[in-house]
Amino acid sequence: MQILPNVYLINGFPWRQTQNGYLIRSGKEMAIVDSGDLGTDTLDLVRANCAAWGIRLEQVTYLLLTHAHYDHSSHAARLQSLGVKIVTNQDGAEAIASGDDRCIGYAVHRPFDPCRADRVIRDGEEIALGEARIRCTEAPGHANSCVIYEVILEGRRLWFTGDVIANGPACQSAEPGWAGGPDYHRPTYLETLSRLRRMECDCLFPGHGPPCLADGRRQVEAVYTNALINWR
Ligand SMILES: [Zn+2]
Repeated sequence: MQILPNVYLINGFPWRQTQNGYLIRSGKEMAIVDSGDLGTDTLDLVRANCAAWGIRLEQVTYLLLTHAHYDHSSHAARLQSLGVKIVTNQDGAEAIASGDDRCIGYAVHRPFDPCRADRVIRDGEEIALGEARIRCTEAPGHANSCVIYEVILEGRRLWFTGDVIANGPACQSAEPGWAGGPDYHRPTYLETLSRLRRMECDCLFPGHGPPCLADGRRQVEAVYTNALINWR
């Protein structure tokens, strides 16, 4: 499903899946944001959807992991075997290399397929993708591996937020992510949200629920407000 001129939803809520995957195109280069599943073979769906748009997974340069949780990262090893380079932060790299509890395999009763990161980013680092640049913002709290990827396309500032900023139906409820990970930490999460709500953002592409193509910053502020109300 094409959402914006160079942004596609490649799996997720329209297919009755809880977790979303996206593809970003910039010139001849492409990046996938997240690829995981919770019990269906999402990679076959991703492959079929991309093929419908004339894209082969072997052509994709990067897999940008928003965090190490199973539903976002479980196909990383298989994509890497196709030549896709895995991007994550230091904690994410350690988690996917070991496949330990930070990948929450226990929550889905399935073992994680370990793999090594190809590129380990730091907060504020930028990655070139065609003519665009992807800015990486570390956003711990939901998990230590959380990274938000920002790209500016056609004048719009897009954020791929994973579970840091989640959306309910029709962007009407903005909620923090799941609290069941071993490295979930509320005070850190609150600090992250406080930092993010001061940043500019036009469109939100969450790991769960529909994208929000207007008032992205307002959604971030709503999650921060929600956290302040409910976490004290
Ligand atoms: Zn998560």
